[in-house]
Amino acid sequence: LDRLAALDLLNLDALHSDEEMQIRDVVRRMTGERVRPFVADWYEQGRAPVRELMKEFGTLGLLGMHLSGYGCPGASAVAYGLACLELEAADSGVRSMVSVQGSLAMYAIWRYGSEEQKREWLPSMAAGESVGCFGLTEPDHGSDPASMVTRARPDGDDWVLSGGKMWITNAPVADVAVIWARGPEGVLGFVVPTGTPGFTAREIGHKMSLRASSTGEIVLDEVRLPASARLPEARGLRAPLSCLTQARYGIVWGALGAARDCLSVALDYALSREQFGRPLAGFQLTQEKLADMALELQKGYLLALHLGRRADAGSMTPEQVSVGKLNNVREAIAIARQCRTILGANGISGEYPILRHANNLESVLTYEGTSEIHQLVIGQKLTGLSAFA
Ligand code: FAD
Repeated sequence: LDRLAALDLLNLDALHSDEEMQIRDVVRRMTGERVRPFVADWYEQGRAPVRELMKEFGTLGLLGMHLSGYGCPGASAVAYGLACLELEAADSGVRSMVSVQGSLAMYAIWRYGSEEQKREWLPSMAAGESVGCFGLTEPDHGSDPASMVTRARPDGDDWVLSGGKMWITNAPVADVAVIWARGPEGVLGFVVPTGTPGFTAREIGHKMSLRASSTGEIVLDEVRLPASARLPEARGLRAPLSCLTQARYGIVWGALGAARDCLSVALDYALSREQFGRPLAGFQLTQEKLADMALELQKGYLLALHLGRRADAGSMTPEQVSVGKLNNVREAIAIARQCRTILGANGISGEYPILRHANNLESVLTYEGTSEIHQLVIGQKLTGLSAFA
């Protein structure tokens, strides 16, 4: 803990309320006891105890943390960000399961759902008793979800979904899936219990990143749903994109956690490992690395906190979240790779968390809008010209 305080060169902790610091410390303690001792094994085995963890996160109030009502804790955006940071300091996959549950699946129902859907799902999802997932990406349509081919066909009072979704976090273990599909007049959202006939989700194997997370491929084979399954307030692609803004905000903080964990491990290592008769930390080239990384970490933190305060004031825009996601994930992966060099051969070992973080961050760089997509969002904001297509 002293090491973490030492990394806070600018004393940015002083910018937080006592309550925010308490929430951070609770999550830090919980991940220290329930995640960190086991996560390297989960990663190696390529699976995590999602349902058990979800219940523990629910008990702590981390699921749908920044939502209010229906059993959700109603915490601030900044408190939620701090929780994401501490979760991702343990593992990006563990943070992802919380992001998907709260910012994607729960947020979609909370923001666009009917009263009945909210009552049915939000309390049990907040408690971690029901696991949710969010299906937007398809095998052939990732960055360009407007081209999705999954269809929602009206049939009497029912809807029938057909198509498929790919790379869906939590899908293989989920009780409920929020599925986006093209209807007769644009994109629609549906709340789909995963036991509905025609719905299947298989685990995607051979991942070299985010291994302590369940990722699935969903097949929708004529999935028949009642009219009440449609998210009544969701109209067009703007609805799923607004959910992504929520999740991206959490990533702005989360990525810093992975980077901080790498830096604190690398600093400890550099102080204790000796070559040429002195600690690695005593070499100027190592200090240059450490200084530059600490700088980026603090700058990224200021950026995250700025966005969080804006979110709490209700004035955060999607373009601003793009600035945060692009910068903080890009810097986090650079920090993870640089820290890897400081550990030399040990840097590639699963005995240390660094290459696990670096590999995880490859997914974080790609999901929730790739770096290129965020550059295009920012480019459009700056120039007024869309360069997407
Ligand atoms: P593509 O869209 O094919 O892009 C490939 C490359 O081309 C990228 O570098 C991209 O930036 C670039 N590119 C694309 N278009 C342009 C352009 N116009 N100009 C310049 N470059 C361009 N999705 C969900 O819906 N739900 C989830 O829960 C979920 N979880 C995920 C978990 C993991 C571990 C991973 C890896 C992905 C997950 N995704 C999820 C999917 C993720 O959102 C997509 O992978 C992402 O949107 C990119 O889509 P793609 O992989 O199809 O890449």
